[in-house]
Order: sequence, then C-alpha cells, then structure tokens
Amino acid sequence: MKLLVTGGAGFIGSAVVRRAMAEGHEVVNLDALTYAANLENVAAVSRRSGYSFARVDIRDRDALDRVFARHAPDAVLHLAAESHVDRSIDGPDAFVATNVIGTCTLLQAARAHWIERGRPEHFRFLHVSTDEVFGSLGETGAFTEETPYDPRSPYAASKAASDHLVRAWHETYGLPTLVTNCSNNYGPFHFPEKLVPVVILRALAGEPIPVYGDGRNVRDWLYVEDHARALLLVLTRGAVGRSYAIGGESAISNIDLVERICAILDELAPGARPYRAQIAFVADRPGHDRRYAIDPRRIREELGWRPEVDLDAGLRATVRWYLDNAAWWRPLLARTGVGERLGLR
Ligand code: NAD
Repeated sequence: MKLLVTGGAGFIGSAVVRRAMAEGHEVVNLDALTYAANLENVAAVSRRSGYSFARVDIRDRDALDRVFARHAPDAVLHLAAESHVDRSIDGPDAFVATNVIGTCTLLQAARAHWIERGRPEHFRFLHVSTDEVFGSLGETGAFTEETPYDPRSPYAASKAASDHLVRAWHETYGLPTLVTNCSNNYGPFHFPEKLVPVVILRALAGEPIPVYGDGRNVRDWLYVEDHARALLLVLTRGAVGRSYAIGGESAISNIDLVERICAILDELAPGARPYRAQIAFVADRPGHDRRYAIDPRRIREELGWRPEVDLDAGLRATVRWYLDNAAWWRPLLARTGVGERLGLR
C-alpha cells in the first residue's frame, strides 16, 4: 500500500515509517517538523525508493490537498500531534490547534480525496490516540474500548476531541476510519523530555533524576516497535469503525520504573555510586492521573496481537541505544523547554 503517515518525524511515527518500509509499503512522511521532530529518526529508510517526505502542517488544507493529489495514498496513519502533557498545561492552545483543528482539517482533506477517487472500500484512515482519554483508574480495573471518555489534562482533552471527530467522520460521512488508544510508549528515538530518556540522560549527567509526587502513579509501558507492529496490523486487518486499545501488559509505578532503569545503568555504565542515589522527588504534576491500565482482549482475540518485547528486555535495549547514540540526543537537549520543569501551572 501507499501510506500517508503524519508525524513520521516524531517518536512513534518514525517507528511506523521504518516498519512500514520494512514490510514493503510505500510511505509519504508528512510532518511540520516542530520542536519534537527529528528527520534522523528515519535516516535508515529515507534514501530508499518508495519513501518521500513533505514538510506540511496538518492545519494547512491547501498543502494537504496537494499531497493527496500528488501521492494518492491508500491509507492515512495519523500520528501528528502535540504530545507532551506538561507542555499542554503551560500552553493548551497549541494542543487544540494541532490535535483538534489539525485533525479536523486532515479528515476533510482525506474525505475529499476519498470521494474524488470514488469512495474506494479499501481506503483507511487510522487515528492514533492514547489511553489518557479514559481518565484515571483507582486501585483496580482496566480500560477497554467501551470505557467512557473522561480526559483530565489539556493534552488528553485534545486527543479525546480528535477521537470523537474521527468517529463522527465514519458515522456521518462513511469515511473508513479506525481508532487506536495506546498506553505509554518507550524505546529508541524517544524525545528527551519524556520520562524514560529523562531518567537515562539525567543519570548519566550526574544530575538529580526527578520523580513527580510520591512516584506511585502507575503506567502500562509498551515498546515502541511493538506499537508500530500493532498499528500496521490494525490498519490492514482491523474492522472499519472500530477502536482498539493497545497495551504493553507491563504496568509499573513510576518509582519502580525509575529504579529499574537505574539498575540497568549500574550494569551497563557503572558509576562511582548506584544511580538510584540521584533520585529526587519533586512537586507533582497538576491533575496527575493516578493509574492507567489496558485490558488488551480485543486486539489479542480479534487480531492475534500481543507485545513481543517485555519490559526488562525493552528497557535494556533502550538504555543501550541511548548509550550508543549520544550524537542523536545531545543536540536535542538544546531545544526549547528540554531539561526545564514544565507544567506546574
Ligand atoms: P512526538 O511528539 O514524538 O511526535 C509528533 C510529531 O508530530 C512530530 O514529528 C511533530 O513535528 C509532528 N507535528 C506536530 N504538530 C504538527 C502539525 N501541526 N502538523 C504536522 N506535523 C505536526 O509524538 P509521539 O510520542 O510519537 O506520538 C505520536 C502519536 O501517538 C500522537 O498522536 C500521540 O498522541 C500518540 N500516542 C503517544 C503515546 C506515547 O507514549 N508517546 C502513547 C499513545 C498515543
């Protein structure tokens, strides 16, 4: 297939681009190249035939129309978004602009292209979303595809809005859409403002490793390459109009995760003292959701997907990757806001 991947210069989008090319698809990578983007993420495939790049903002309808007309994609995988919760607390407008207005603009451009080509049945619009739209869990339970939406951060609210738009474009206009709601991702090429790379890079720099609140917030971690595999499976085998919750089957509290990363670093890059001595508890994120967990039954039973990389193996591979790729992450530390405490209201 010819796939239009939005946000393909970001963390997850680039994993999707690399995997899609490896599976033999053609890829048009569409990205505005915001602070979170890095074309190095796709350097392994960007010279191959079947790959092209368009620097386009998803709010720019004319530019989107030109990309659809030029490339005539069979499917859209929509990952372009503002993605950092802390930044959404300081500046929610950018999240509404890209995640809500941008998604609406992209849906309209995709629908016009789909109509123009005679409403092909095989066309797909896959919208990549988050489990954060479901809110916060107590001590028990897990999110399913039927869980009512209850977003609590500006980021989650903007993603929830975009999910609703995508569903509406299916119900109202018949556009063949799919939605996925995934748990926290980690892995190589993760932008150094997110928890896992922050821990690795602060530890290596000999700086305090910040843990929000009491560190007991629980997240379900999924290795990014497993997520990319799941997305291509949902795209090719998922039922139109349906949503799929994607989880890592690796729920762990933030403090336990941080300690695990420190222990791996103690093995792979031993310092004078254990890295866990650098852990520093800091003020909590406002509205910090306590626990997320995914019940992955639908994608497992209907599509036969399960994560292949367990948390220990994935964290080891990730730590190793950051140790080997300072040339990738070092320049990113100079980008606006990286290394600063954001989102304190
Ligand atoms: P990211 O921030 O690493 O990448 C986002 C990409 O989108 C960047 O390359 C950026 O330049 C691009 N972009 C931003 N605004 C744009 C615009 N207006 N027009 C065109 N391109 C634009 O994000 P990520 O972590 O790779 O997340 C990708 C998607 O997956 C997002 O939609 C996010 O909500 C969702 N998601 C992320 C996670 C996670 O743990 N990271 C979990 C579940 C779902």
